[in-house]
Amino acid sequence: MIVANIADRREASNLANHLPKLSQNLIHLKRIRNSQGVLQILICPPCDDPDDPLKNVKENLLEAVGNSKDNYKGLDFNTLRTAKIPSKPPLTRLQFNTLNAYWPCNFHPDKNIEDLLTQDCGISVEEKREVISNFKYLFSIREMYDNRPSCLIYDPADGAKEIVSVSPGAFKEKHPLQHAAMAAIDGVARLQSGFVCQWPNMPSDEILASSSSKRPRTEHSDYLCTGLDAYLTNEPCVMCAMALLHSRAKRVFFALKSPKCGALESIVKLHCTPSINHRYLVFHIENFDVQ
Ligand SMILES: [Zn+2]
Repeated sequence: MIVANIADRREASNLANHLPKLSQNLIHLKRIRNSQGVLQILICPPCDDPDDPLKNVKENLLEAVGNSKDNYKGLDFNTLRTAKIPSKPPLTRLQFNTLNAYWPCNFHPDKNIEDLLTQDCGISVEEKREVISNFKYLFSIREMYDNRPSCLIYDPADGAKEIVSVSPGAFKEKHPLQHAAMAAIDGVARLQSGFVCQWPNMPSDEILASSSSKRPRTEHSDYLCTGLDAYLTNEPCVMCAMALLHSRAKRVFFALKSPKCGALESIVKLHCTPSINHRYLVFHIENFDVQ
């Protein structure tokens, strides 16, 4: 960015008001900083000429502020120069402290992000026990069904903490859509008397029948999995990952990578795609020990 010193600090706010506004992607930056008693102000991006980044900056600036001296009073044009600035807003306290050495930023702490960066990813000891318990149950189901990829959907909310749907799915030879997550989400729809796909010989019926939850979740939301966690023995494919996204799952846990088709780590990180309209947190539980 191009910066300049403010020769008369009494004009600082006047300058900030009259200079052209910074573009939307730079609004995380403070416009003025105090560097060892000297006020400095961000002016504009440098021009495209790498050999002369200050080319026409003064002329363009005067034109932009309307050539009225009152609008740039106090600005020291002789100090126009380039300066490194943080191009992205800080997301953590550590980033904030680091970036401030270049140029002061606005910062809004996000406890969720800070928690996720801790050693335990913001998961309490009690929650860890739930995760392990759910995976043990899921892997026991998987074992009953020839180690086919399986999925369960769990309500982690206080007062619930129950398995909502289980699917030992991945009977793709019976139906091309019969993947574990697809069938498990369909199980949630059954509880809400919603649309049920007619999976041929769906083997999870008996498991669903013995599932602890019969609670309709219609009071929660219009989306099937709002607030729910999905546990998968295997990393889901793109179709299943999108189905979990469309149903608004809260978190997705998986144990085994799917190197050829996995959509959360192996071939793509679908949950990190900028254009998606819902994000769930993804946890890869490596080296899960069924015992
Ligand atoms: Zn799938």
